[in-house]
Amino acid sequence: MLKEFHADLHIHTCLSPCASLDLSPRRIIERALEERLDLIAITDHNTARNVPPVMRQGEKRGFRVIPGMEVQSREEIHILTLFPDWPSLHAWEGVVREHLPAIANDPEFFGDQPVVDEEGNILEFEERLLINSVDLSLNEIRDQVLQRGGLFIPAHFDKDSLSLVSQLGFVPFDLEPDALEMGRKTRAALPKDPRDPTAAIPRVVCSDAHQAEDIGRARSVFLLAEPTLDELRLALRGKEGRKVLELIFPDPSRE
Ligand SMILES: [Zn+2]
Ligand SMILES: [Zn+2]
Repeated sequence: MLKEFHADLHIHTCLSPCASLDLSPRRIIERALEERLDLIAITDHNTARNVPPVMRQGEKRGFRVIPGMEVQSREEIHILTLFPDWPSLHAWEGVVREHLPAIANDPEFFGDQPVVDEEGNILEFEERLLINSVDLSLNEIRDQVLQRGGLFIPAHFDKDSLSLVSQLGFVPFDLEPDALEMGRKTRAALPKDPRDPTAAIPRVVCSDAHQAEDIGRARSVFLLAEPTLDELRLALRGKEGRKVLELIFPDPSRE
């Protein structure tokens, strides 16, 4: 039977240097439950090292976590890459790591990058600066992600920085992403003209949470049989009755 699933597919942990240190696995799952989300994805910048503890913390509470990563392409475009399981994300992380410049993080300037356990205890600090472009193009990233059974979703595609629109000025007609993530502040960007070639690409909106309060502030509602990546793919393609039901944006007065 199909039912509604509220999903926030773009959430950072404390490992992202720009994110709050209170984004521990436990806190993330608590906030997701408080917000009555049914499904989340963890998407740190160019790393997946804090994904397993969030998945484990989710499992303890019976809550599904999609393993993911927000990769920054050579063109300085952010892309959500979501995977069906940890082994496929882990393999992808190895590729990203090989292409991430070996520049040390300066915690004073960029913030700390703690790798934590499921309770939020710090195991070590990631030493390589995570917020950099990897030496992979947009198309190379797409091909690698699709080969590994993942979803390829340009992040906050209409934002004024680090997005498809800011870096290229358009959505390449042959990119064929699984979806476009709208910036949570840019609700006006839904194409009004059906001839707009991007009109056929499904949209999602997520919180891009960098602090615990933001989790669930923007979300996408899907009609699915169960909270899995395969079901999300069917919904984005409008297959077998699965679909995107609603995009929920935050109240602009709170932004
Ligand atoms: Zn981003
Ligand atoms: Zn992000």
